[in-house]
Amino acid sequence: TFERFGNPSSVHWAGREVREKIEWARERIAKFFGCDPLEIVFTSSGTEADNLAIKGVVFNTPEKRGHVITSSVEHPAVRSTCRFLEKIGCDVTYLPVGKEGFVDPDDVRKSIRKDTVLISVMYANNETGVVNPVREIANIARERGILFHTDAVQAIGKLPCRVEDVGADIITFSAHKINALKGTGGIYVRKGLNLEPLIHGGHQERGRRAGTENVVGIIAMGKAFDLLIDGWEKEAEEIRKLRDAFENGILERIEDVVVNGSREHRLPNTTNLAFRYVEGEALLVSLDMVGIAASAGSACTSGSMEPSYVLTAMGVDPVDAQGSLRFSLGYGNTMEDVEYALEKIPEIVSRLRELSPLYSKKAK
Ligand code: PLP
Repeated sequence: TFERFGNPSSVHWAGREVREKIEWARERIAKFFGCDPLEIVFTSSGTEADNLAIKGVVFNTPEKRGHVITSSVEHPAVRSTCRFLEKIGCDVTYLPVGKEGFVDPDDVRKSIRKDTVLISVMYANNETGVVNPVREIANIARERGILFHTDAVQAIGKLPCRVEDVGADIITFSAHKINALKGTGGIYVRKGLNLEPLIHGGHQERGRRAGTENVVGIIAMGKAFDLLIDGWEKEAEEIRKLRDAFENGILERIEDVVVNGSREHRLPNTTNLAFRYVEGEALLVSLDMVGIAASAGSACTSGSMEPSYVLTAMGVDPVDAQGSLRFSLGYGNTMEDVEYALEKIPEIVSRLRELSPLYSKKAK
């Protein structure tokens, strides 16, 4: 049972006890970002945080619309929010990405219009791990007096995330990507910047997000950030060693495998690999049967895989995109896990290739 049962909005001792814990979490998260605790707003998820950031800016403009610049490889939390804004009369520019997977800051500069109210470009992509030049984009936005939001959900604990490193006016985070509980997230929002709230009700989060707080989720998230303040760089380095051993091991053992996206500008924990002549879904299922959890990063409907829009935007051939899987390493993974995967994956890939008409054609 949870002993601290008070409502943090209550004045009595039970409420105050819980309020203190929430404020402790806020302070730890602010310390991580190098900002003021008042600049942190809690939400129910990274998805809600992205919605609050983007709609919050647009709905706060006098006409409640305007031009938004984003990228063509954003997480659905941003992508679908932008699609919704288009439906209600906003203009959205979806910037292309090159073969390496990141946005060119020059393209950002060129797409700015008089009525641009927001630039929203993710820090690191969830499918490929590719990192965008957010600092440069922030400088462009600043010069032109336009607000800049970045979805840093994948970057927290893996890349420098202090506000001074990122330069954004609004930064999205989510608890479960740093091993805290699912169903909690939030934004850093620069002091003085007003966002139109999306959820109306009580005065929680200083009127920026109504509703009784997810107390347990917030405290757990505070603890996870607390551990990252001094520890993230070491942990990111450890994970990088495992990822590199995995990736190099696969490339050495299996022919016709391609790494999708930049290997240089990339998160330390992610690799997205195209296994040519293999159907991604079949590979995913076979890996699952031996206890290896990977993701396809594509919409999987009744056996037919839509190629990932992220990979398609990068110009990856649709057939290769269908044979692409994302592997993410994280807290708790060991070199033994990597060795196990390197033993199993080549066997599985060669078995699937034997069944593949494309592969037999290539072999002739
Ligand atoms: N943004 C990115 C880049 C993500 O990877 C995710 C989750 O996978 C989200 C947003 C959404 O966060 P949440 O799952 O907390 O809604």
